[in-house]
Amino acid sequence: MNRFLVLRDAYGSVQAILPDSKRHQFEEMIKSLNYESVLRIRGVVRNRGKARNPKIKTGDIELEIDDLEVINEAPPVLPLLSDQNALEQTKLKYRYLEFRSEDMQQKFRLRAQVTSRLRHFFEKLGFVEIETPTLSQWTPGGAAEFLVPAAKPNLGRFYTLPQSPQLYKQLLMCGGIDRYFQIARCYRDEATKSDRQPEFTQVDFELSFTSKEKVMHLVEELIKTAWPESLNEYEIFSSPFQRMKYEQAMNDYGTDKPDLRIPWKFENCPEKMASVLKTGVEEKENFSARMFIAKGTGRHCTEEQMSVWKKLIEINPHAQPFDIFIPPNQTGFNNWDSDFDTNELVTKYDIGPDDAVVFCWGETDGVQRTLGFLRNYLADTIDLRKKSGFKFVWIVDFPFFEKKQGNFECLHHPFTAPIKEDEIRLWKMEGLENIIAQHYDLVLNGIELGGGTIRIHDPKLQRHVFEKVLKLPTKHLEPFFEALSYGAPPHGGFALGLDRFIALLSQQGNVHTSIRDVIAFPKTKDGKCFLMNTPNEAPPGTLERYGLQIVKGDEKQNLV
Ligand code: ASP
Repeated sequence: MNRFLVLRDAYGSVQAILPDSKRHQFEEMIKSLNYESVLRIRGVVRNRGKARNPKIKTGDIELEIDDLEVINEAPPVLPLLSDQNALEQTKLKYRYLEFRSEDMQQKFRLRAQVTSRLRHFFEKLGFVEIETPTLSQWTPGGAAEFLVPAAKPNLGRFYTLPQSPQLYKQLLMCGGIDRYFQIARCYRDEATKSDRQPEFTQVDFELSFTSKEKVMHLVEELIKTAWPESLNEYEIFSSPFQRMKYEQAMNDYGTDKPDLRIPWKFENCPEKMASVLKTGVEEKENFSARMFIAKGTGRHCTEEQMSVWKKLIEINPHAQPFDIFIPPNQTGFNNWDSDFDTNELVTKYDIGPDDAVVFCWGETDGVQRTLGFLRNYLADTIDLRKKSGFKFVWIVDFPFFEKKQGNFECLHHPFTAPIKEDEIRLWKMEGLENIIAQHYDLVLNGIELGGGTIRIHDPKLQRHVFEKVLKLPTKHLEPFFEALSYGAPPHGGFALGLDRFIALLSQQGNVHTSIRDVIAFPKTKDGKCFLMNTPNEAPPGTLERYGLQIVKGDEKQNLV
């Protein structure tokens, strides 16, 4: 007959034991007790002496039961405990049960610890924590935002949930709060993007009379302060963090978020190879043929795998054709030129039998981006991105604008200032694509941890960017332009994605972690919460209050 039971709470477990004198009283009770039931035990903590169990943290002691009371009995089978391979949907439905695992307990305690340190860091430096509205004003030219309808007396009008406190933090600068921070809840209606959550948390800050260098230094100090001791074994801080210009990042890694734990860089294909590749291309202008050598991945580049990569890459509108050469089976060249002498390539680049030469050709920007994806995919075949360790890099000198379907858009946001030297050209609207922004992104292991900019503080220039360059409506921004006109100090700031930061910390830098793991009650990719069944129908009577009517299927067509 079992005389023992293990008691567990948020902090660990301990063995409890029935004393001989009470054995008969409790034996039956223990026998029929289901796991995960809640008990109250009174007893005496005893030293286990020779019976100690060194494998358990509390193995030196045990609790001798004097009195035992079942406070809340759990059913014989609990949803998640009964199914180790439970579907994501089930896990989310029983999220509170997932919290009972040690792993989840650790993650959320880590999150709280890091957040508390971030807060103390700012407080010590005199930053003021200020909450900004959640029922907010839409900002043109950014991510899709959630709309919140207003009731009487504002019927027919809407709030939006903020994608970030950007405007408010700048208004605080106008108000002379020269150092602001907030652990801010933000919202973006971007359900289709992978590993995004409709609501997420940013560590948001802004300061006046600052510079790009000062903000970047502050972020580095912030990260060091928040860094959990448990991770100190990694050499993370060669401070200042590495810097890389946007142009170099795109040229060498095909992305502005390079994972620098992957050692492969791009280079031009040898001339002969490039000219063969060019023959088959119609659009010869802006042509590039680039490649990188993925050491030790050859065996993983099967036909099957390649076709999966092709499909993934083709989703991208800029995708360009690519191929992979692996020395033993000469793949990758048979398709387009059987006469090409691959030995030259093998010798020049010292390509081993298990190495893969990944090459891509066509329009330059598309080539870079395609190779950028492939660099990550091939690295995954040998788990380079699952590796422990942290590689920070600042990406700087971003172009202010990019042209999309004939229109200019901002790489970060329209409140960004150009570098001083480019301001005149911005006014004159000359070479807009080449204007450099005072924009800095922090990348950790190929993931964008955060970004920020020095802002435009001249209301005329701000208006010019919106109206003349971006051609966006500014009606709603008038109060903001006005605020800038009353003597706004120069200012700049940054926002750190707290969820991503914690996800990376809790997995020792493994990028194949989801921010969902560190959000207490996350939503699915399509914005659903299986636990509380949100989004849900409106409560009875509320649609009328907001002057709303749900229109479905055919009815919708009638309305158009
Ligand atoms: N508001 C920006 C963002 O959410 C960050 C910043 O520029 O401070 O990305």
